[in-house]
Amino acid sequence: MTRRCFSSRPIHLYVGFITLAGAAVLIAEVSAQRALLALDSPTFWVFASCLVLGELLPIRVRRGREVEEITTSTTFTYALLLAAGTPAAILAQAAGTLLSELIRRKPLWKAAFNVAQMTLSIAAAGAVVAFFTTHDPMSDGFPVAAGTLGGILLGALAMFGVNSIMTGTAVALAQGRSAVSQLRDTLFFQASTDAVLFAMSPLIVVASERSLLLVPLTVLPLGAVYRSTRSSLEKAELADELATQAQRNEYQAMHDALTDLPNRSLFRDRVGQAILSAQRDQYEVAVILFDIDRFKEVNDALGHQNGDRLLRMVGPRLEECLRESDTIARLGGDEFAILLPKVAGPAAAVGVAEKIATALAQPFEIQGLNLELDASIGIAFYPDHGADADTLLQRADVAMYMAKDARTGIEIYDARHDHYSPSRLALVGELRRAIDRDELVLLYQPKADLRNRNIPSVEALLRWQHPTRGTILPEEFIPLAEHTGLMRPLMSYVVDQALAQVARWHADGLELGVAVNLSVQNLLDVDLPAEINALLDRWGLPPAYLILEITESGIMGDPVRTGHVLTQLHRLGVGLSIDDFGTGYSSLTQLGRMPVTEIKIDRSFVMSMTHEESSAVIVRSTIDLGRNLGLRVVAEGVESEQIWHELEMLGCDQAQGYLISHPLTADDIPVRFNGGSPYVLAKRNGQARPLPQG
Ligand code: C2E
Ligand code: CA
Ligand code: CA
Repeated sequence: MTRRCFSSRPIHLYVGFITLAGAAVLIAEVSAQRALLALDSPTFWVFASCLVLGELLPIRVRRGREVEEITTSTTFTYALLLAAGTPAAILAQAAGTLLSELIRRKPLWKAAFNVAQMTLSIAAAGAVVAFFTTHDPMSDGFPVAAGTLGGILLGALAMFGVNSIMTGTAVALAQGRSAVSQLRDTLFFQASTDAVLFAMSPLIVVASERSLLLVPLTVLPLGAVYRSTRSSLEKAELADELATQAQRNEYQAMHDALTDLPNRSLFRDRVGQAILSAQRDQYEVAVILFDIDRFKEVNDALGHQNGDRLLRMVGPRLEECLRESDTIARLGGDEFAILLPKVAGPAAAVGVAEKIATALAQPFEIQGLNLELDASIGIAFYPDHGADADTLLQRADVAMYMAKDARTGIEIYDARHDHYSPSRLALVGELRRAIDRDELVLLYQPKADLRNRNIPSVEALLRWQHPTRGTILPEEFIPLAEHTGLMRPLMSYVVDQALAQVARWHADGLELGVAVNLSVQNLLDVDLPAEINALLDRWGLPPAYLILEITESGIMGDPVRTGHVLTQLHRLGVGLSIDDFGTGYSSLTQLGRMPVTEIKIDRSFVMSMTHEESSAVIVRSTIDLGRNLGLRVVAEGVESEQIWHELEMLGCDQAQGYLISHPLTADDIPVRFNGGSPYVLAKRNGQARPLPQG
């Protein structure tokens, strides 16, 4: 029989009525003297025990997504009714139901209802069997024989029918639906399971008449059913769990964990799909890419948690400016992408981009602060700028950098400004791995003192030893690094390697300093001073052995921000040098305010100073300027003795160029400048010192 749980108002009356009726029948039946006689027979106790066991260990089966409980006690209740009479069956069933309901901590009224409806079902069955079998009123049970099987079948039907109607009505009342439809839903399933349970009852009775020891044997098949349903239930539950897990995994693989927005791979899929439908129906697709300007500062100033909070706020904010069919994705870091699968031309896409910019410029409240964000936005279209997702994303990326460089905020891709040929794009990916693969090496070029030909320091110049393309010069890959966020790891790597080499030279008794080139992006990085300091510490070197070379245009691009970083570097005590001097437009007053220690005259002027008057003027005035400001002046590109002498006469401090040496490997430096060279490497006084650990 099935057992149901229910609760709700309108059924209380019904439950109360059934409970009372059941209680009345129970008392009437059990108080009859015959019921107590049954307690003397071992059959009662064997059947009753099995009944209680069946109540306590229901078989759990799945119907659709729901799990239903079938109590096997039915078999023994009916067997008991046949073997020992209605009162005995009612008594045992009441005890079993009460026990199991209480163990499951069901409310008392529900336990009472279940006892009552079972009592009524059994009583009905008893009455029907008595009516249809030749029943000896003096005996306690009903004879099981070929001739009585019809009556036994009808009795089972009565018990099943009364039970189904009573529980079905209760459930229907609780759920506020019609009892008929409730019955229709459950009747077939109940009938099919209960038929099996009832069918076993007469068999068990017959077996018990031979010997009670046979009863457990008949129970064995039930055990098998019990086990197999349990394992199939577990399997079904496991399958459910795996299915949900798979769904979850798929979701995670396609979404960004921080913002819950689609990630790069889902975005690419969607762009691909949009292109396919656009091909069919002949319209344009736009990919918009943007990152938040100076997001790193927010992160640094307010902490990563607040940075993350800000990133999470971007998606919902932008959804308000987009259509349902548009996709917004987070590609990583502070980079977001938007897909407009159907746009009416560039003007419409720029309109959306403007809305995005406006939305981001509305204050975001973080920790009581109102942050207004600027974004650089790049746009690329299908079919004009690319025919696949990757090309469109890359072109939008180029447009975004154009917007950043030109400080225009929004740019549409323009092939004329694209320096990224496909082969250069492939290089970007390889550059990321070059550091780990030890493909980057430093060469060192000496700076010599024009007065005494001593070499106090060398400039570190980067080379990429590409496995298939051979040596790649910095002019080719530094700009790539600058546009792909690789400048920071590259700089760390170069400074670390250069300082390691200086420490080795010091250990060998050579007191050389090293100059390292920085790019503009390094100067905009507020963490740079701390990082340089840490690297000096790592190699145990005083800051005076490190010179940082910065181009004039690098400083002047954003003098306020770079000025902040430069001041801190200056405080650290490292040397600061203005590289390629003369090629930019720095004013003398600005230069005077910079905390620099050295200027390097660009090699174009130095190399032409002997035959071009304008170059000679620039070289001469730069040397004068440096002197007046108390700065060391270095001439680059010194290729001849003639130029060396002119520079010497003009009072220039140092010279660097092919005359002294091409860039050399670290090992070649001491070899090249041994006793035979007119140039002398700076030596340490006293003993060589041990290398620090690092
Ligand atoms: P730079 O800082 O002006 O470096 C001097 C460049 O002039 C070097 O080219 C050097 O090989 C070359 N050179 C030296 N003496 C002479 C000479 O007498 N005649 C001529 N014609 N050329 C001479 P390189 O090594 O190809 O470096 C080019 C530029 O790449 C550098 O210009 C520098 O701006 C950049 N760079 C090199 N290494 C790094 C680095 O580690 N980080 C960064 N950010 N930039 C680097
Ligand atoms: Ca340089
Ligand atoms: Ca230079």
